[in-house]
Amino acid sequence: MKAITVTPGTAGSVSLKEVPEPTPKPRQLLLKVLKVGICGTDMDIVNGFYGEAPPGSPYLILGHESLSRVESIGPGCKGFKKGDLVVPTVRRGCLENCLNCRNGESDMCLTGHYKEHGIKGLHGFASELTVSDSRFVVKLPESLSEVGVLLEPLTIVEKGIEQAFRIQNARMKWKPSTALVLGSGPVGLLATALLRQMGLAVTTVARKPADTPKARLASSTGATYVDVQARPLSSMEDKFDLVFEATGSTSVALEAQNLCGTNGVVSFIGIYKSQAETEDAGKVFTNLVLGNRVYFGSVNANISYFRQGASDLVKIRRKWNGFLEGILTNHIPLAEAESAYVPKGEDDVKTVLEME
Ligand SMILES: [Zn+2]
Ligand SMILES: [Zn+2]
Repeated sequence: MKAITVTPGTAGSVSLKEVPEPTPKPRQLLLKVLKVGICGTDMDIVNGFYGEAPPGSPYLILGHESLSRVESIGPGCKGFKKGDLVVPTVRRGCLENCLNCRNGESDMCLTGHYKEHGIKGLHGFASELTVSDSRFVVKLPESLSEVGVLLEPLTIVEKGIEQAFRIQNARMKWKPSTALVLGSGPVGLLATALLRQMGLAVTTVARKPADTPKARLASSTGATYVDVQARPLSSMEDKFDLVFEATGSTSVALEAQNLCGTNGVVSFIGIYKSQAETEDAGKVFTNLVLGNRVYFGSVNANISYFRQGASDLVKIRRKWNGFLEGILTNHIPLAEAESAYVPKGEDDVKTVLEME
């Protein structure tokens, strides 16, 4: 079968090659892959920054954002039938089976020895056929057959927002009405839609004029879109109950905490480059204390966020027809897969490999 592989640590090694078909073990489903989404993590692996092949394999099959159909069901897999539309989760618990991995929360793994499909120690899903342990596979309704590949990036949003609510509700009575989303990439747009769907007034900010595709997608959910090139964050007077930082820019992340209101919460999900920043750290900590604020980070997502995300994808699709389809701007056939891993234009949101 065809698969998209890299030699981890070697930039430019991405290639479409013929590899042996996987054989499902007990408890595993054999999946026929329909679509694979490409994100910044894939680009980092392709550029040789990280990535780890499974033990004994000279290559790593890419792909952690996927949508598949069940092809065959191994012994011990319950609740699936051939043809089911499904998405496997990405992370599998550590060998030590730490407290959190044992509790089904490998996204909170303590040892760091977890594995991740398409990233760290396990092959990804960018192949014609793949396998996954059925306990980590979520079923999707047929209405998501075109957009279900967005489930994995949505789970990052689901966790970042659900944890914000859980933290806030545990420490006080909290009735948020406003949210600020920083960034208009796929994750920023999905956060905008989810927070709108939850009934919050959302302001989404990015560095693009309001008449560009990403800005139009954000506005289509009823969010207020702000182009920070025309209106810098430092000039914004509004304070928000919840701030969702999805740009991965250190300077934006520092600004984000200035825009968080009294008793508010800031959820950071970016990976920030270390660089000299001029922001006064004393002011940052004083803001945190005097405002009763919580700033927290969130990475990865366990299966509970995949289940919640599947239900929210259905609601978002019903509410804003064409919004999710609009995020999938580039569809590349498997035969041309090598061309998919190149930097995209400003107006491209997400590239999807069409695996059939
Ligand atoms: Zn991703
Ligand atoms: Zn663990």
